[in-house]
Amino acid sequence: MIDLKELTPDEIDRLCAHELGQKPGQGHRVAIQLFRKRVEDLDAMTDLNRPFRELLKGHCAISQLAIERSDAADDGTTKLLYRLGDGNSIEGVLIPGPDRLTLCVSTQVGCASGCGFCLTGASGLIRNLTPGEMVNQFFAAARFAGERPVTNIVLMGTGEPLGNYDAVRKFIQTATDRRGLGFSPKKVTLSTCGLAPMIERLADDTIAVSLAVSLNATTDAIRDRIMPVNKAYPIGRLMEAVRYYGEKTGRSVTIEYVLFKGFNDSDEDAARLGVLLQGVTCMINILMFNPFPGSVYERPDEERAYAFRNLLLKNGHVAVVRNSMGRDILAACGQLRAADK
Ligand code: SF4
Repeated sequence: MIDLKELTPDEIDRLCAHELGQKPGQGHRVAIQLFRKRVEDLDAMTDLNRPFRELLKGHCAISQLAIERSDAADDGTTKLLYRLGDGNSIEGVLIPGPDRLTLCVSTQVGCASGCGFCLTGASGLIRNLTPGEMVNQFFAAARFAGERPVTNIVLMGTGEPLGNYDAVRKFIQTATDRRGLGFSPKKVTLSTCGLAPMIERLADDTIAVSLAVSLNATTDAIRDRIMPVNKAYPIGRLMEAVRYYGEKTGRSVTIEYVLFKGFNDSDEDAARLGVLLQGVTCMINILMFNPFPGSVYERPDEERAYAFRNLLLKNGHVAVVRNSMGRDILAACGQLRAADK
């Protein structure tokens, strides 16, 4: 049995044409039923005629994912724990805003990147998620959210998306296809810790998505300490890839910079960051670290965060201080899963 959620709309169409003897376009009708109308039962796809539905039932299945636990913070941010078919668990977060509801999607069970400020990194990589498991996170979270539609997707949950490139590419295709989940590429953001060659590949493959790069330091000495990926792709190499991506796609890149008190939040850091990003079309998101039990880093106060931002603004950059939502529910990466364990 082929799980239809593992396939992109074009792949469903090819399957229907080549293996089920249907006319081209019939499979797209199946994709619209499944992804746009969220009909997860082949019998209930009444837009398709009965013989076609029976044929599909003989070859295809539609998987589902259960939410095992949810924790809501006072600000409405809700952390979700999904249980996978093999018993592993992954996390998601629903983040409400005044005019949006953002879903944070995981791309791997665990993560190989080992960032020093992240609980997921401490447990290592267990396995990659499939495209269907990512699509299923969306379905489960959208069901959980009820009337309120999910308006944005960020690939910022457990895992390094560019470390699971092929599955993530397929998920993005399904998410942004009008016969798939139908999101604008501007509303789907992939966040990477800095796998420079894969950033370039993303540009070369013309994958329509918004890119965010988690930078968090302005010198290799500091970045080496919190992000081991920097040893493979130091800041200079990473910036080369970011510039390449910007030039090749014409898109603005989001630079994520998490402030750790007394570690990477000085005026000198802000000045160096300004220089690093000179000529890069980007928006700088400044976040204040969310400490978790046992973390060695501390959260700076808001005044420091705004002073840091103001220095960037003075140098002509676009920079905003983002609120860390859900501080009271362990909303940083990997924390609910760690609590589950
Ligand atoms: Fe992996 Fe992201 Fe955690 Fe780094 S912050 S270890 S990339 S999950």
